[in-house]
Amino acid sequence: MKNYDILIIGGGPAGISAALAASKFNLKVALFEEKETLGGQLVKQTHKFFGSKDESAGTRGIFIAQKLINDVNNKDNIDVYLNSMVLGYYEDGVVTALVKGKMEKFKPKKIVIATGAFEKSLPFENNDLPGVFGAGAVQTLMNVYGVLPGKEVLMVGSGNIGLIVSYQLAQAGVKVKGIVEISEKIGGYLVHASKVRRLGIPIYTKHTITKAIGENKVEGAIIENIETKEKKQISCDVICLATGLMPLSDIINQINCEMKYISELGGYVPVHDDNMKTTVENIFVAGDTAGIEEATAAMLEGELAGLYASYELTNIFDNRINEIKERLKEFRKTSSKVVSGLKKLNLYNDFTVNSQEDLGKLHRTGIPEKESIESNIPKENKRFAIIECYQKIPCNPCVSSCPTNAISMDSLNGIPKLDTNKCIGCGNCVAICPGLAIFVVDKESVLLPYEFLPLPNKGDIVEVVDREGKFLEKNIVLNVRKMKDKTNLIEVKVSKEHINNARHIRVVK
Ligand code: SF4
Ligand code: SF4
Repeated sequence: MKNYDILIIGGGPAGISAALAASKFNLKVALFEEKETLGGQLVKQTHKFFGSKDESAGTRGIFIAQKLINDVNNKDNIDVYLNSMVLGYYEDGVVTALVKGKMEKFKPKKIVIATGAFEKSLPFENNDLPGVFGAGAVQTLMNVYGVLPGKEVLMVGSGNIGLIVSYQLAQAGVKVKGIVEISEKIGGYLVHASKVRRLGIPIYTKHTITKAIGENKVEGAIIENIETKEKKQISCDVICLATGLMPLSDIINQINCEMKYISELGGYVPVHDDNMKTTVENIFVAGDTAGIEEATAAMLEGELAGLYASYELTNIFDNRINEIKERLKEFRKTSSKVVSGLKKLNLYNDFTVNSQEDLGKLHRTGIPEKESIESNIPKENKRFAIIECYQKIPCNPCVSSCPTNAISMDSLNGIPKLDTNKCIGCGNCVAICPGLAIFVVDKESVLLPYEFLPLPNKGDIVEVVDREGKFLEKNIVLNVRKMKDKTNLIEVKVSKEHINNARHIRVVK
């Protein structure tokens, strides 16, 4: 039997953050991960994270994972058990686990459960045909194993996962035929939606998939407008489902923690307090297991659970506990769904969410309204940034990237505002923005963020396209700035008539 102060189940962002927090108190920590590496979903997140500088905003998930894993490996008081699955918890506090195929017993004083989530499926005709994938599986295939799932993909679901995976598929050279969304509005961040629209990918709101076509494998799909009942056939060899996540709660159930069904949090979640303590003594939860949210919230919750469990063992209260609670509130300020779920757990009772205004066409299509686009164009005839970020989301790295303080926001969830008098058109904000929502426009050129290969060279002729990926003109690349974090900057010459619509380029093969 091995004794530990804190045993953590799950080596994703929440579990690692809990382990690092507890390690600060010189406690003996065991971190269990059933896969061969730590990092969980972060290891396949090739996109940049939102949030603020403190939460690594503007950094790709994969690099956040590397840093967290290095930090864990540098701690002598964290024992990492890879390829190891926790199997059971007994009334005497003993935990059994299969460690590399061998059963072992552990006796921890506290347990943090951060087992994450699994993907929800969707009922439709032929949904068991080979070629129907979950979005997480597609990300694992592409970004972990370097394998393409197919050649033509229909994405179902326009939440952040559906939008991000569509973009990553396009980066990998796969044709995304469309994104199907049953709601009237796009579910994910609208900057992600605008990114995929620039690639020419349509988003079919108010649509659902009714059938996968094919005998032995997917050869197409039928989608249907839920109002008009009009059907459309789309040829594809992959149907990718990004229809939501459900907390993975097997071990929590087995421990007999009180559970509650809260649809806003993804399904059955453990009842817990604002220190992430469940109804069973010494058992904490964190991350998607406690309710589905973004990875940043998972890391904050993990740290909170680790710090509070440590406080109960050491009696040393770290003020970071209160700081994290405030950060989580800031992050949830525009998340009405999550906050409504938390209220059902008797948390956040007096908390008011900032209302999200309906952004009209942008919410339905990913393309901003004409008036929004025009309001961004200043009267002065000079080089300046255009910020096409109109939705309240927890994000602000553009503000601190600006050397002249030309960008301001009233809070983390505010809308960035540009002072054109201060802007010198340097492009720093273009490079850092995780939503790829900033461009620098000059009299006869546009500076764009570009995350595709091959990169064009200075002097090459490329196709300049608009916000829907429609061809505008061919023109010459004036400059290529290769950036360390791989959001490269391309400055392309654009004729005056297209300057306010040129938002992406296609390299001519
Ligand atoms: S282009 Fe440069 S100066 Fe202008 S807003 Fe962006 S970072 Fe600031
Ligand atoms: S414009 Fe600013 S607030 Fe909007 S996504 Fe980009 S960095 Fe975030």
